[in-house]
Amino acid sequence: MTTTRFAPSPTGYIHVGNLRTALMNYLIARKSGGTFILRIDDTDPVRSKQEYVDGIQRDLEWLGLTWDKVERQSERLDRYVAAADKLREMGRFYECFETPVELDLKRKKQLNMGKPPVYDRAALALSDADRDALRAERGDGHWRFMLNQTRIEWTDGILGDLSIDAASVSDPVLIKQDGQFLYTLASVVDDVEMGVTHVVRGSDHVTNTATQIQIMEALGGTPPSFAHHSLLTGPQGESLSKRLGTLALRDLREAGIEPGALLSLMSRLGSSQPVELRTSLDEIAEGFDVSQFGSAPTKFDVDDLYPLTGRLLHDLPLADVAADLAAAGVPADKAEAVWSVIHDNITTRKDIATWWDMFANGADPVIDDEDREFVSQAMAMLPEGALDGDSWGGWTKAVKEATGRKGRGLFMPLRKALTGQSHGPDMSAVLPLLQVIKAKG
Ligand code: GLU
Repeated sequence: MTTTRFAPSPTGYIHVGNLRTALMNYLIARKSGGTFILRIDDTDPVRSKQEYVDGIQRDLEWLGLTWDKVERQSERLDRYVAAADKLREMGRFYECFETPVELDLKRKKQLNMGKPPVYDRAALALSDADRDALRAERGDGHWRFMLNQTRIEWTDGILGDLSIDAASVSDPVLIKQDGQFLYTLASVVDDVEMGVTHVVRGSDHVTNTATQIQIMEALGGTPPSFAHHSLLTGPQGESLSKRLGTLALRDLREAGIEPGALLSLMSRLGSSQPVELRTSLDEIAEGFDVSQFGSAPTKFDVDDLYPLTGRLLHDLPLADVAADLAAAGVPADKAEAVWSVIHDNITTRKDIATWWDMFANGADPVIDDEDREFVSQAMAMLPEGALDGDSWGGWTKAVKEATGRKGRGLFMPLRKALTGQSHGPDMSAVLPLLQVIKAKG
């Protein structure tokens, strides 16, 4: 039975980078009829906020990425205490008292000597008396897991065969000086106890994975299959780390991006499969294969989401946009006509209100100087009373005869005068919807 999890820390809103992780884990579970756990990694009591937990759930619900179970690490602290005790009993856990400044100095010295900045295990040489003295002076220490200095190997679902020399990695800190469990331990305990079979996460976690495999084995658990996806960059390959804050899912939702567009892009971007608009999660899950993703950084351009959003909206039946039309003020008896006129000409649902505003209140006319006389002559000929689907044809025919203009020279100035734009839907459909015409004859 496949079990995956998405494990955000609720210290902020989730962004497109997190979505990649969430989606891959969700799709693996979904494809095999397995279980998808939403695990809230909230062991940091200061930075974790309920507001972010709610925000993360709302974002996932918006996308339809429903979870089978929610787990919160803050409610499982007793399990982490038990695991820490077990590691202590095994002699794989040791207390250290170096301050961050001291550790930094050690690292700098090692680097100056051309050595890798790996923790030197000085704390292992402390006697009980040394430890008591340090504790009296500095308070509790932090706790490190003692790695076996062997090679740690696994076949990564994306990166292939990996081998990391544990001697090149610092013994990981699992409990901070203030007693807070770090996710490295909490995650291991949870993955083992919750029967997680597959973990997909960003390639910034590769070293963590190596140490976690040893911790899991020490605790008697079986490590899951790991896959590490590449990190996202901007369109030119630039780092996204600073901009990810502006790529929060809630902001994309606010900007009018459709969930289906976001899912279609993020489920294939960086893989050997083409990005195509897919309209359901079933369809997205169907061809999904984590092994098709590459290790090279993946270029992400937020602007790619707009054409996908537009294409998705173009095909929607009236029923799916009726609420948006009503919210924009479109009367129910005009909804069908309005949608059939605008559906191919919108990029996001926000454009519905813009179009309706134009129909209801009139557009500011755009009239080039050389067309001024022509437009005023044409406007004077616009039929009085209700306009219908034939009005445009009849009117422009009459204008053509009266002015001698034809083709683009005839139609374009009229479109711009009536709609303020040089392109848009068929004018014979637009004209009957215009409640106000500002261009004067
Ligand atoms: N809370 C961790 C993070 O957001 C989870 C990493 C993981 O184990 O997948 O980085």
